[in-house]
Amino acid sequence: ILELDQVSKSFGSLKVTDDVTFGVEPGEALGIIGPNGAGKSTLFNLITGNVRVDAGRVSFDGADVTRTPPMKRCHAGVGRTFQIPQPFEKLTVFENLVVAAAMGSRKAESEVTDRCADILVRTGLVERANVLAGGLGLLQRKRLELARALATDPKLLLLDEIAGGLTEAECRSLVDTIRSIHASGVTIVWIEHVLHALNAIVQRLLVLNFGKVVGIGAPEEIMASSAVREIYLGIDV
Ligand code: ATP
Ligand code: MG
Repeated sequence: ILELDQVSKSFGSLKVTDDVTFGVEPGEALGIIGPNGAGKSTLFNLITGNVRVDAGRVSFDGADVTRTPPMKRCHAGVGRTFQIPQPFEKLTVFENLVVAAAMGSRKAESEVTDRCADILVRTGLVERANVLAGGLGLLQRKRLELARALATDPKLLLLDEIAGGLTEAECRSLVDTIRSIHASGVTIVWIEHVLHALNAIVQRLLVLNFGKVVGIGAPEEIMASSAVREIYLGIDV
């Protein structure tokens, strides 16, 4: 469903994405790991079009989207969460969803409301529907960020460190939610430092270091590889 072909991006003299090639199959869940500053979030920005590639090609759902603007890619089915969620603090949870759905999908208004009500259920936010986003705790903020991405009706959902900062119990409940979203047929690419959360969902792991893909494959294989051992030396995973 997604194909990156020799994608590169520099900021000034810093090569943040270096000749990245990989594909994601429809229905797959792929995890992306790598140290801080490895270029993970930038990779998402290149996939969504928020950042333009210097070289290479991005295809989504069989079409070349390398020069397609972000909103059009969103309408085509690329949804994402941001590492730092920025909901409209003074709108309620439900209003935030309606705004995201109205901007991100091409549905009629009545359909948008139904769809948002459904997403509240799927993301465990029914009881918070009328709470102001600014008053939410961390887990609920994460849930809202997920819900806002779902409101755009994505075929491909990009998650950027959505499990960061949660307690283990909170993390487990969020993983359950993500699992059911994946089971409903949404393809997922998930950047995460919380490896046990990631490994509960993904079929493959991609390792990024200094903007380069240094490994891609089954999680057991990747975690045992020398490339990963070097990067994560001394970190308890
Ligand atoms: P983290 O795990 O900390 O989120 P990351 O892997 O997501 O890190 P990126 O945010 O992609 O890393 O950043 C990669 C590098 O690119 C960093 O050195 C960052 O400072 C730099 N960078 C990112 N965006 C820009 C930009 N718009 N302009 C200049 N430099 C940038
Ligand atoms: Mg990042």
